[in-house]
Amino acid sequence: MNSVLVFVLGLAGGSFINALEWRLYRGKKTVWDRSQCIRCGHKLGVWDLIPVASFLALGGRCRYCRKKISWQYPAVELASGLGLYYLALNFPPDLFIWLAGIFLITVFIFVYDLKYLLIPHGAVFLGTVWALAGLRYFDGDFLTSVLSAALMFSFFFLPYYLSKGKWMGGGDSKLGLFLGLWLGWPLVLEGLLMAYVLGTVIGLALIFFKRATLKSKMPFGPFLIIGAWVAYMWGETILVWYENILLM
Ligand SMILES: [Zn+2]
Repeated sequence: MNSVLVFVLGLAGGSFINALEWRLYRGKKTVWDRSQCIRCGHKLGVWDLIPVASFLALGGRCRYCRKKISWQYPAVELASGLGLYYLALNFPPDLFIWLAGIFLITVFIFVYDLKYLLIPHGAVFLGTVWALAGLRYFDGDFLTSVLSAALMFSFFFLPYYLSKGKWMGGGDSKLGLFLGLWLGWPLVLEGLLMAYVLGTVIGLALIFFKRATLKSKMPFGPFLIIGAWVAYMWGETILVWYENILLM
């Protein structure tokens, strides 16, 4: 697959994700409506909508009201472009298409949870259906994947249920279902462990630098998503490496 084309498609995907985040949060039904500046409401032209390039050319400001545009926009575009590019380099075309879908859905959930502390149910539902479709197509180990998904779901659902939502948000269990289905066993466990390690390190760092306290709400979805991707890409290698250490 042409890697430049994939990169450009990823940039465009990231741009669409940015627009969708805001529209979903504001409850706008018109997903395909023309984009507008979120500050002044001016409709954006073609030259305002080129991923990354428009942001740089305009010095990170709206062409019409000169208010600052969040760095989230070019960052999400670039991450989507580079992510798809990397996947295309490492996987055959059919597997790439499946993973590209999962990647863009996880980028969407990542940003949404980070910004609004909410896991968007629609995106998780879409991801679950997409993961199931891929499992069927690639003749994946269906039973193991379903069991992994059930395990992840209960792992998050129990504390949520017992604490009535105080320790854990309800969205994490649904996200766990989607990721568990996609990763299967034992990657699901590796992803979960990595999410906890990363979450703890970043949480402590934020407290240390006085950017957060123990009572601050921290979204867990982004950590789960990073953990899942690290497990998917390098989980097998990490397991072999770990076994070698144990056997030494
Ligand atoms: Zn504006």
